[in-house]
Amino acid sequence: MKAEKLNLGTLCVQGGWNPGNGDPRVLPIYQSTTFKYETSEQMAKLFDLEAEGYFYTRLQNPTNDAVAKKIADLEGGIGAVLTSSGQAANFFAMLNICEAGDHIVSSSNIYGGTFNLFGVTMKKMGIECTFVDSDAPEEEIAAAFRPNTKALFGESVSNPGGQVLDIEKFARLAHSHGVPLIVDNTFPTPINCRPFEWGADIVTHSTTKYMDGHATSVGGAVVDSGRFDWQAQAERFPGLTRPDASYHGLVYTEAFGQAAYLTKLTAQLMRDLGSIPSPFNCFLLNLGLETLHLRVPRHCANALEVARWLKANEKVAWISYAPLEGDKYHELARKYMPGGTCGVIAFGLKGGREESIRFMDRLKFISIVTHVADARTCVLHPASHTHRQLSDEQLLEAGVRPDLIRLSVGIEDVGDILADLQQALHG
Ligand SMILES: *Cc1c(COP(=O)(O)O)cnc(C)c1O
Repeated sequence: MKAEKLNLGTLCVQGGWNPGNGDPRVLPIYQSTTFKYETSEQMAKLFDLEAEGYFYTRLQNPTNDAVAKKIADLEGGIGAVLTSSGQAANFFAMLNICEAGDHIVSSSNIYGGTFNLFGVTMKKMGIECTFVDSDAPEEEIAAAFRPNTKALFGESVSNPGGQVLDIEKFARLAHSHGVPLIVDNTFPTPINCRPFEWGADIVTHSTTKYMDGHATSVGGAVVDSGRFDWQAQAERFPGLTRPDASYHGLVYTEAFGQAAYLTKLTAQLMRDLGSIPSPFNCFLLNLGLETLHLRVPRHCANALEVARWLKANEKVAWISYAPLEGDKYHELARKYMPGGTCGVIAFGLKGGREESIRFMDRLKFISIVTHVADARTCVLHPASHTHRQLSDEQLLEAGVRPDLIRLSVGIEDVGDILADLQQALHG
């Protein structure tokens, strides 16, 4: 049976690993840095990218590859590369097509770590980023593009603000400027949203969140739709369309066609910078993925009930959760992710920042952790924690109000979640 004929739930359970007769039923952990060959010639061909095979786990490992394939199939992509974190995924997705002197455009409604990566660290490397308000009209965002722009970036559902990206609008903007659209699809996961179906070219993930789902393993993924025509923009993407001196003058688009982008990412970035996940972490990620299709709907159902309850509560000043009727992003959410967005709710309390902190400290089993999107309900105050490095001005630019509480609703019994919120708000 071909993987692409299977539905999402079946891919979650069965995807990636297809054992042959007498093979282990469960994806094995290939806890080996290296792989054995009979002849020197066989190994040499691997180093020249002339033959396919495993030789060193920094480049490829069978456990990791099986999990990457599962994620690629879930997204409807042609392949994926796993990374040691979501940060590494977004960095590699960009660095694979950018170098010093280049420029990218990004929605400003993004994860704080990515905001710093694009705005500070990549800037030091000579890659500039213009942040745009993703809700602005198309003409306004178009003005941010320059001749040296290499990519457009956005989060399908932003962390922590919960803003929903108009993916088709962003795809039009990217393609009319000859660049790929890269979408970080961490929060909805492919269970709720598949950005490739709306024109995205590359999808990234922090698999640390719902995909792993149990807060055991930091990880990331870069998935390629295979649809962006690098050759048609040969001048803009010389790294893919001109000879690579580090591989005897090989040209990725000529040698690998559709697989050019991911092959380059593995062959150059993984080779030189590392950032692979361990096979053991991939094994844990795979266990998480086996129940993704069951957990995500439960997160969404619990979160909708909690969001409705919060909205009706007199102590709550404002709430942002796109599945709520009347939310600013309700229509976009209905279009791009009709089954729900995710379990993460943003809200503020009357009494502002101080009251938010008091409320969080009173919670019992709902804990304060630097995490989001796992089975256990948790809270965080981004202005004091994840986004602490940002000024109040930058916070607002990143769509994070200083009083914002990020509540990540888990898969416990919702009655208990409501009771804990109730006692903390009114206790
Ligand atoms: C957490 C997160 C990241 C960073 O991922 P790590 O796995 O923590 O490195 C990137 N993007 C989004 C949307 C995230 O939620």
